[in-house]
Amino acid sequence: MSIIEKLSSLLPPDRMSTHADHLAVASRDESTLEGVTPLAIVWATSTDDVRNIVKLCLDESTPITTRGAGSALEGSTIPLANGIVIDLSRMTEVLAFWPDDLQVRVQPGIIYDNLNEYLKREGLFFPPSPGGSGDVATVGGMVSTNASGIYSVKYGGTRDYVLQMEIVTGTGELMKLGNRAVKRSSGYNLVDLVSGSEGTLAIITAVTLRLAGLPEGRLQTAFKFSRETDAARAVSEMRKYGLDVAAIEFLDRRVMQALNSLKGYGLEEVPALFLEFHGPEQVLTSNSELAETICREMGGSELTLGEGQRPWEIRHFVTDAVKYRKSGYAIIRNDVAFPISSLPEIVDYCYRLGDENDLLIHTFGHVGLGLLHALILAKREDTRQWQRATDVSDLIIRRTIELDGTISGEHGIGLGHKSLFELEHGSSVELMRKIKRQFDPRNILNPGKIFDM
Ligand SMILES: Cc1cc2nc3c(=O)[nH]c(=O)nc-3n(C[C@H](O)[C@H](O)[C@H](O)COP(=O)(O)OP(=O)(O)OC[C@H]3O[C@@H](n4cnc5c(N)ncnc54)[C@H](O)[C@@H]3O)c2cc1C
Repeated sequence: MSIIEKLSSLLPPDRMSTHADHLAVASRDESTLEGVTPLAIVWATSTDDVRNIVKLCLDESTPITTRGAGSALEGSTIPLANGIVIDLSRMTEVLAFWPDDLQVRVQPGIIYDNLNEYLKREGLFFPPSPGGSGDVATVGGMVSTNASGIYSVKYGGTRDYVLQMEIVTGTGELMKLGNRAVKRSSGYNLVDLVSGSEGTLAIITAVTLRLAGLPEGRLQTAFKFSRETDAARAVSEMRKYGLDVAAIEFLDRRVMQALNSLKGYGLEEVPALFLEFHGPEQVLTSNSELAETICREMGGSELTLGEGQRPWEIRHFVTDAVKYRKSGYAIIRNDVAFPISSLPEIVDYCYRLGDENDLLIHTFGHVGLGLLHALILAKREDTRQWQRATDVSDLIIRRTIELDGTISGEHGIGLGHKSLFELEHGSSVELMRKIKRQFDPRNILNPGKIFDM
């Protein structure tokens, strides 16, 4: 029997498909990389399903790519042509809720926004919002990429919230990692190891998350600057002063132009910082006053938004605004992260590279964490321009690594940034390979992602 026939005998007909439409969806994620059509897609609805499918694929040496919503941006969700996709988006249950402990246990397919909708009745939330994908991204996908977002500057990234997980390894073994204790000094932290492993070590079938209390109040402000580097310096100063800020987003002038052209916002086309503070009234006021003083010292001033315009609604459209800025152009994307003091230098470096190579580069991101997206526009059909853009992207990453930063602050490595992975991690990649072999000796879990074996 073929693997397809064996899968068909394992699962009911509505939970396995080889239909071209289903395979087309399963073939790609939200990266600009080419999709790869797998042999089949299966929808698991329980941990037992996952175990049975893994055991079958192990016997058949068939690669498995786990899929949540497929919103990843670096190709980590792109399957292999001789492999299957195991889709967990139907595993959406809240398994347990302990509001007094600020904890919840969920199945991996629950969508970020839906989880927060559920939690808000008890005044709680799961903070590390994955930006514009919160309405689709699953908790399993977020844990597996260690996703972070605008509020991570105050609250941290996804990994900081994972206490415990149930996993199925590449041998089909079921394991519980971690426990519900918030502080622990007991052995190796395997929960942190699997978090961010992009489906290469295990399939996560349940997660226990820490939560935070919904803030009593929120205040959003925006500041403008005449130069991008001044905005970057203001961010460094705010961090130095220990300003309690929930979000600091940087948008360069080109991003503001792109937003105006897509949405007709009429924004001033200058570099900007969007800020949000959380807390009681008097804390909001004192923090926003301190932020204003710092921004003014760096030559900034308040940015007035139009009637009814809100910073995060504007921020939501940034990627689309860049994507549709020039018809026929595609995005080459970066999500580098570095020590905060390097921000002015990296922003400046991106612009210089853009000018020298005649490329349009937009920069923005969760700069409070030292995380910057540099989106480079180029035409795929213009092979020389596409190559220049790819080279410039590599140069930005190389400079980041020289400054002791990382290739990826939030999207992961996937296929997109594999080639520079060893440059960042050196000989420790060999140790990673050994670890992978312990979890997945036959290399069936998302092979070829992050690094080659
Ligand atoms: C418009 C837009 C904005 C975005 N903004 C942000 C942002 O601000 N911050 C950010 O961090 N990301 C962002 N992303 C990227 C993406 O949304 C996140 O990486 C998200 O966490 C992926 O969730 P997903 O369910 O779509 O995962 P998928 O794409 O389905 O999977 C991602 C990876 O996790 C693995 N995986 C998924 N589920 C499991 C599981 N249960 N067990 C083991 N492995 C698993 C997959 O194999 C794959 O390697 C954005 C994407 C888009 C399209």
